[in-house]
Amino acid sequence: MTDTIRAVRGMKDLLPPESRRWQQVEAVSREIFARYGYQEIRLPLLERTELFARSIGADTDIVAKEMYTFTDRHGDSLTLRPEATAQVVRAYLENGLHLGAGVKKFFTIGPMFRYERPQKGRYRQFHQINGEALGVDVPELDVEVILLLLDILKHLGLRDLELLINSLGCPVCQVDFKARLTIFLARREGWCDDCLRRRAANPLRVLDCKSQNCQALLMEAPLLRDCLDDDCRRHYDRVLELLSRFGVPYTEQPRLVRGLDYYTRTAFEVTAGGLGAQDAVAGGGRYNGLVKELGGPDLPGIGFAIGQDRLMEILPEQDSPAPPRIFLAALGPPARETAFSLLRELRRQGLAAEFDFQDRSLKAQLSLANRLGASFTVILGDRELAQGRVLVRRMDGGEQQTLPLDGLAAALAALIAREKDEHRV
Ligand code: AMP
Repeated sequence: MTDTIRAVRGMKDLLPPESRRWQQVEAVSREIFARYGYQEIRLPLLERTELFARSIGADTDIVAKEMYTFTDRHGDSLTLRPEATAQVVRAYLENGLHLGAGVKKFFTIGPMFRYERPQKGRYRQFHQINGEALGVDVPELDVEVILLLLDILKHLGLRDLELLINSLGCPVCQVDFKARLTIFLARREGWCDDCLRRRAANPLRVLDCKSQNCQALLMEAPLLRDCLDDDCRRHYDRVLELLSRFGVPYTEQPRLVRGLDYYTRTAFEVTAGGLGAQDAVAGGGRYNGLVKELGGPDLPGIGFAIGQDRLMEILPEQDSPAPPRIFLAALGPPARETAFSLLRELRRQGLAAEFDFQDRSLKAQLSLANRLGASFTVILGDRELAQGRVLVRRMDGGEQQTLPLDGLAAALAALIAREKDEHRV
């Protein structure tokens, strides 16, 4: 026997009924994005490798170890996107979306790829819901982005969320900070091999090391917030003031850095109870140098990414009834002919209708109707056909009524509409 082929490690199939919950999460997100004036962009899954190498940073884990990179038949180096912001900026510049004054707001939903060690909450293909606002650097916009993110999570029913926030300053503050950090790193011993390399290449990346030992050594490291210049300090204070004004609880986390090099000023994460070790359900921040780094004008930006796979793990069970469905149970060839035409008619009326393609006993058909969650089953047999009538059975209470075959689709549509009004289906 030939072996069956399995999915790639760290990549999952998304099956019903779970896929329906994913659709609902995406629908809620879209509605909240629209409220805040964010428009959808859909971007390719493949980009030139250089886009990510240049923006995320050569010394980050993502670029150094985790990208799915290959050479195509033309000899170009391409990479499956590990994150969305760099490509949103690429599309923003390439399509002239940056032209004209003011803030431009986009959202995008889709899969990302990182060659990480798979575990609960960490996959090699995972899914993000991203919001990005480009063109303006004012603290009010930082707060809008954070409120938008929290609004989406709360509308989805998530509780037990914690907003962690920090300021990473601007490149000017970072020069001072890097100098202090370099001295600190040189004075301590016990760094992992990766950090010894990072220490020389880009000391900021040491802060993001996943090793517990390095994190313990870092407890006494200098803090970025002590190096903020006046403008960055004012920006950060105003963000915190506005969050307090809107009653948004936050925890300042002076050691928070993100896994990507392009962040400046405001950086944040949202953690959620119930996720275990990988408890960050979303993260984001400002990236004021990124547009310029990618060859555009000096325009600022800020955004966030929700990890949709993690979000699904903690999403409360919601009672979200499927649309009422009608099942047509037909016995014998003439009744099946009639039922098959009726199926088309019902769907034309906008109703969800199903039929047993296998021509089985009434009992088997009724059990299929139950499995499909049908609200009503229409029973058609030779006798009913001869009388020009059918039997309509409510699946939850078992009550039955007889309806004329003539005009049946319209009568069923009216019946469903009435039941919906009375919240019975
Ligand atoms: P990042 O793009 O690294 O800032 O991550 C943003 C969010 O995406 C995180 O807070 C996670 O919720 C999610 N995420 C990142 N990497 C993975 C992964 N490998 N598997 C599942 N979710 C992830």
